[in-house]
Amino acid sequence: MDLLDKTLKGDNLNANELSKLYEYDIFTLGKAADTIRRKKYDNKVFFNMNRHINPSNICADVCKFCAFSASRKNPNPYEMSIDEILSQAISSYKRGAKEIHIVSAHNPNWSYNWYLELFSEVKKSLPDVHLKAMTAAEVDYLDRKFGVGYQKILEDMAKAGVNSMPGGGAEIFDEKVRKHICNGKVSSQRWIEIHQYWHSLGKMSNCTMLFGHIENRENRIDHMLRIKNAQQDFNIVEAKKGGFNAFIPLLYQKQNNYLKVDDFPSGQEILKTISIARIILQNVPHIKAYWATLSMNLALVAQEFGADDMDGTIQAESIQSAGGAKSKSGMEKDDMVFQIKNAGFRAIERDSLYNELKEW
Ligand code: SF4
Repeated sequence: MDLLDKTLKGDNLNANELSKLYEYDIFTLGKAADTIRRKKYDNKVFFNMNRHINPSNICADVCKFCAFSASRKNPNPYEMSIDEILSQAISSYKRGAKEIHIVSAHNPNWSYNWYLELFSEVKKSLPDVHLKAMTAAEVDYLDRKFGVGYQKILEDMAKAGVNSMPGGGAEIFDEKVRKHICNGKVSSQRWIEIHQYWHSLGKMSNCTMLFGHIENRENRIDHMLRIKNAQQDFNIVEAKKGGFNAFIPLLYQKQNNYLKVDDFPSGQEILKTISIARIILQNVPHIKAYWATLSMNLALVAQEFGADDMDGTIQAESIQSAGGAKSKSGMEKDDMVFQIKNAGFRAIERDSLYNELKEW
């Protein structure tokens, strides 16, 4: 039996062995991944109506790949008040956003209660909105700064109205690469523990992987395997507990940072990575091709290579766009729908937990 067949069958292979999957041609990998995604979702491509709010770029951490933080190459520090964030959330809701996605730099000026007050105020004003907030890196930062314990932070977040967690801060789990690109930030092990504890509260989250910088293929596979193993602890389908909803391979944006990467992965390498993710991570329901980092065109092509989700309209975005992504002002829903249908798929608006709301 060849490697692809063994992988599809679920054989227990290690990262080194699985990295040889990249040696298959793109169409063989794509076909295997597409078969899995069509069995799950047929010809559907999911998106949601969401709004990203990034309350501050003042950061106590110093990741080399970051173009967003004011302590890196961004000359424009800012921090928003709770009233400003609330006013953006309310106006986004009026424009149709059903999810407010709040992710920030690790601002040392804010108190622990500032976060809880923010979440409570958003939910008080917009009880119907799905509040997705706080990466595991932010949770870990609050734990390091205030010594509260990540378990209590997660419990407090849930009480304050946070519905799910985004998948940011995972970067690449390999400790050697991680030390080079984001030394001091949440460790790989702690990132996973934080998500698993959140899942044990019955909550969902996403998981990301930052790729296309100094990592190698084996590092990417190792990252996927750690996600796969973490998910196995909470089988969300059978136990109806929390778990990872979507895996999001985030393409590294190379402008305005200190990482100094000259190479850029080819379109083929990117699509192979997405296909391999679909093949390996069969216990994670969705693979997201996040258009903000991939570009709209490549994200649409990725839907034929194992992905089934585009993310959303996002309305505004500051983190990836600081590194060169074309996501600063989001995308109109009609445009998103047109592009999905024009690519030959069914455009399905979903909520934040992937319940289907409407076919457009
Ligand atoms: S990636 Fe996040 S934690 Fe790292 S420097 Fe940038 S804002 Fe700070």
